[in-house]
Amino acid sequence: MSCTESGSSDQAGPYPYQVLDAEQRQIRVLTLLPGNWHDPISCELEVVSLNDDPAYFALSYVWGDPKVTLPIFLHKHTLQVTSNLENALRRLRGPTKPIVIWIDALCINQEDDVEKGSQVAAMGDIYEKCMLCLIWLGDRFSQGFDDTFRGHPCAIDDMPPLPWNSDKAMNHGESNFDELITGMGEIWAAFMMVYTLSKGKHIYEYSWASPGVEADGAFGALRTLIMLRWWSRAWVIQETVLPPQAVVVWGSFQAPWAMFAAAARNFNQHVNSGCITSWVHMSNGLHKTILSLFAGVVSEFDRVDRKRHGRLVKAIAEALFPTGSAGETSRTDLTGSGLSAHLNELRLEALRRAPLTQKGLLWEDQELPADILERPLSTLTELLWAFRNRDATNPRDKVYALRSLVSDWHNGHALIPDYRLSVRGVWTQALQES
Ligand SMILES: [Zn+2]
Repeated sequence: MSCTESGSSDQAGPYPYQVLDAEQRQIRVLTLLPGNWHDPISCELEVVSLNDDPAYFALSYVWGDPKVTLPIFLHKHTLQVTSNLENALRRLRGPTKPIVIWIDALCINQEDDVEKGSQVAAMGDIYEKCMLCLIWLGDRFSQGFDDTFRGHPCAIDDMPPLPWNSDKAMNHGESNFDELITGMGEIWAAFMMVYTLSKGKHIYEYSWASPGVEADGAFGALRTLIMLRWWSRAWVIQETVLPPQAVVVWGSFQAPWAMFAAAARNFNQHVNSGCITSWVHMSNGLHKTILSLFAGVVSEFDRVDRKRHGRLVKAIAEALFPTGSAGETSRTDLTGSGLSAHLNELRLEALRRAPLTQKGLLWEDQELPADILERPLSTLTELLWAFRNRDATNPRDKVYALRSLVSDWHNGHALIPDYRLSVRGVWTQALQES
């Protein structure tokens, strides 16, 4: 790196992690100190207890190639992190205000297998209790983008990612997606595609579905988006579905995860129902493949989204038994294993009554989706099978990354992560307890 600051004098040796008290539900949170774009990255760790409801963001990202690292400062100790993490910190850092964030690689002492086990056991809580999860897909230079995008006149290189602005998106219209690429860049075009899908129009209403419309560039951008490594990881499932909110950050733009989820759901619903004819007749096969891949990869997250099912159950219960009525006891029954049977009955009843649709609430799935009867994955075995193709750097994590998503343990207690066990040992444990 060419720009080094004199202020960050290097302390000898690695940062000395202090022991955490698992009984007190202690975790470390990282304070990312403010700085200008080219300043070195400086951070500090603080020990807090989950019992005290600390305020922090959480990061979801791909560690990346361990051989390609960049230095950051942790309490003035130099630490090598992968370039993908360094890029994330640089992008997310504010110019004046520090941000507090939980990042596994820095907040867990990676040298201590006992601590790793107990912190991984706490990860469900850590992601559930964060204010917001920042999903870092990468910077546009790191993957998939060629050099032509460097130094693009509209490239926003030296600043934090811009929030998605639907008004601005609306003003740009949807008539010519390829113009968006030259105007706003590839990431913006990909997000724009997702945004339009989130509005839930019929397939034939989209301009890109019409023959002869130029949209190869925008579809290429969407393809680049779904080919990013982040989507292939095992950990990202819980990191996305457990937090109260998540935001997708890709280089210089960010957009709510709810927009992605709504896009996939709407698309699937239209294709699987009335829009099947326009879908079949859509002429561009490559575009169709890209859309199917997008909807497939995003809707995988819905299969384990317990909060979403909880919300739907609440919405149905609310419609059937308005607050204050005798429905109180019925509502409390609507959890756990009897859920799908209840839903089956409730759905028929709900359909007879007023529709639950609440238009105008963008990105909120207030509509009763077609897959409501599909039970969410609840056992470890189901999750392991469903996400068998996802990868994790440590093979033990193919099991541990999914444990917080399990709602139905065979023995009634959750599997306890133990990084001292062999890989074989972890799988034996998993198969016994699931
Ligand atoms: Zn339709």
